[in-house]
Amino acid sequence: MMHITRKHEISTAHRIYEHSGKCERLHGHNYTILLTLSAHKLDHLGMILDFGEVKRLLFGALDEAWDHRTLLYDIDPLVEQLTVLKDDDSLVAVPFNPTAENMAAYLGTTFFPRILEENNVDKDVFVSSVTVFETEKSYATWEK
Ligand SMILES: [Zn+2]
Repeated sequence: MMHITRKHEISTAHRIYEHSGKCERLHGHNYTILLTLSAHKLDHLGMILDFGEVKRLLFGALDEAWDHRTLLYDIDPLVEQLTVLKDDDSLVAVPFNPTAENMAAYLGTTFFPRILEENNVDKDVFVSSVTVFETEKSYATWEK
């Protein structure tokens, strides 16, 4: 088994719905995302997937979806209250409370696999790990 990892950064606002501390306030992070792709065999060039393609396809889609936007849990009442943010697609209602753990799991199980499939990337290539750094010192990892 071979693995490649690429790092990417996005800036995103969120709040943790029903958190009893300061994380319930709307705030933002400069998130660092580590994405690991794995495969049992390499392509004819000796690659799993060109790092440039990882950036363009997978992180391009992530930029479009989450960068400089506000992530809120879809049951959070703020979703209905912040209608002005919905008008320009600044607000993204996600089906999970946007903790680093849930973001990593969603990216690993749903978001990145869908982008691989939509772009007809070799079926042997799969997402094996996603780490979401909320700060330099605090991060969560999803692993297949
Ligand atoms: Zn936060």
